[in-house]
Amino acid sequence: MNLADKSTEKIWQGTAVSSGVAHAVVHVLKDHFDEPDEVPISADEVESDLARWHAALEVTRVEIEAVQQIMDEQGSSEADIFEAHLLILHDNSILKQVEKTVREKLICVDAVYYRLMCKHMDALRGLADSYLRERFLDIKDVTHRVMRHLRGEMLQHPMFDDQVIIIAHDLTPSDTVQLDRSKVLGFALETGSANSHAAIIARSLALPAVVRLHNICDELHSGDPVLLDGDEGLLILNPSPATLAKYRSREEQSDAREDALQITRHEPAITSDGFKVDVCANAEFIEEMDAIRDSGAEQVGLFRTEFLHLEDPDGSEDWLAECYTKAVKAMAPGEIIFRTLDIGGDKVDPHASGEPEPNPFLGWRGIRVSLGRQDLFRKQLRALLRAACHGRAGIMFPMVCGVEEVRAARALLDQCASELMAEGLKIPEDIQIGAMIEIPSAAMSADLIAAEVDFLSLGTNDLIQYTLAVDRLNERVADLYQPTHIAVLRLIQMTVAAGKKAGIRVCICGEMAADIELTPLLVGLGLSELSVASSQVARIKHAVRKLNAAECSRLAVEIMQMSSAPEILAKSRSMAEAIYPELFA
Ligand code: PEP
Ligand code: MG
Repeated sequence: MNLADKSTEKIWQGTAVSSGVAHAVVHVLKDHFDEPDEVPISADEVESDLARWHAALEVTRVEIEAVQQIMDEQGSSEADIFEAHLLILHDNSILKQVEKTVREKLICVDAVYYRLMCKHMDALRGLADSYLRERFLDIKDVTHRVMRHLRGEMLQHPMFDDQVIIIAHDLTPSDTVQLDRSKVLGFALETGSANSHAAIIARSLALPAVVRLHNICDELHSGDPVLLDGDEGLLILNPSPATLAKYRSREEQSDAREDALQITRHEPAITSDGFKVDVCANAEFIEEMDAIRDSGAEQVGLFRTEFLHLEDPDGSEDWLAECYTKAVKAMAPGEIIFRTLDIGGDKVDPHASGEPEPNPFLGWRGIRVSLGRQDLFRKQLRALLRAACHGRAGIMFPMVCGVEEVRAARALLDQCASELMAEGLKIPEDIQIGAMIEIPSAAMSADLIAAEVDFLSLGTNDLIQYTLAVDRLNERVADLYQPTHIAVLRLIQMTVAAGKKAGIRVCICGEMAADIELTPLLVGLGLSELSVASSQVARIKHAVRKLNAAECSRLAVEIMQMSSAPEILAKSRSMAEAIYPELFA
């Protein structure tokens, strides 16, 4: 931004994925492969800066060797590539040159290392020779890995003193856990979708978020003042006094509406004809428990444990047990349903998963990782069982594709429980065990799964993506991501029927549960448990109280005869708008 633009208001339109408004300066998180700034350092800082770089090289070495080992075990000829990567990583001339430049020029190692590697890449870039082109890609790959770890190291330390709005190309779940969340007021991202975990977290933390702000990282600089509108999907640079005044008055009106909703938030959600719906909250972080209790949620219907795991992938069983216990005690007497690790997909833990996969959402994810890495799984199960001794904790398994995985997971859980009892622990007998239904095969065998568990929980974020073959993160196919596609609704209906027949609870913990346009349809399909971001609890309870379950059932019967997703959405929405127009204001 040049100086002449300093006070000029400029507006970008993106896609709103989490509501609310924030006014603050931005902090731009450049893509890890972007050019790092040439930050000067003092002579005293040289050693610690170089130590940080050596640590990044070491983590990269471990990472490359792990991948190499997997390739070796699979007899893949690709293993040689990683040998070349290790040679680049340990290249003596590069190591010496970087150290020398940092010491002499007193510039941070990130910039020095990056520039030197770029020089090597430039020498090879665009050459026709296929061997040399491969070398270019090797250097790029190694540089990419090291820069990522350097950036990770940096992110662990707060980079901003004041509260900021984060601007980034994308935020992976592991990026998110490293941010100092107490300082973040909102997210504005170049890419992403309503169902990406960055958006889900923003909603959980009740922070405004806007995605699909193309090239915004190049347009803004850290320190620029902006207003982020998570309702209309706007990002406004240098908001004028008139704009700020308009937003202030809008905020006052919405605060008044919100206050009215909040009055009844602790009362149960029962339809006008007596059908009770348990409205629960989804959580990702222990620190959310107070806000959740205050939101009126009856329990935590989904605790995504992978975020805690990403904070410290090597954390001990004792540490995990302590964290889970803290959450259980904070939520008492309410229950927390802990979902066992759902690593994979977009929630990548390089230590657990090894080499990036071509189709991560169809790869090693959720219960597949847990059953494959029993050391990790057992550590988590033992920690959860220990926490369950201090309050009410349920356990559910993600990404199961059929009953056999559920049986295998339960067998391990039983083993862990026996061990702990032999160690003298008194494990409660009534711990609720559940399975997530988020793969079509699981929905189609929900009757078999229901026979093995105490409850089912519909993970519609994934159920939609896997049923319709639409990547939940891919903006190109976002229009095809249709919660009201009849195939999705049939799978939900099948799951509810299986739960009913087995006499067990069925919950929805996907984002669909928080969509007030769909509440009539979900109630009509017989769902009696909805788990949503805590900021949405009061709204959903209000919507349920206004509905009549018998009318909703008739609506669902009609809808299940329809075939067009937009028409189904319009039908449910029109009932919702007619019955609780105040929520659409
Ligand atoms: C889901 O898939 O609906 C779900 C709740 O899990 P996640 O969004 O973490 O994949
Ligand atoms: Mg899921």
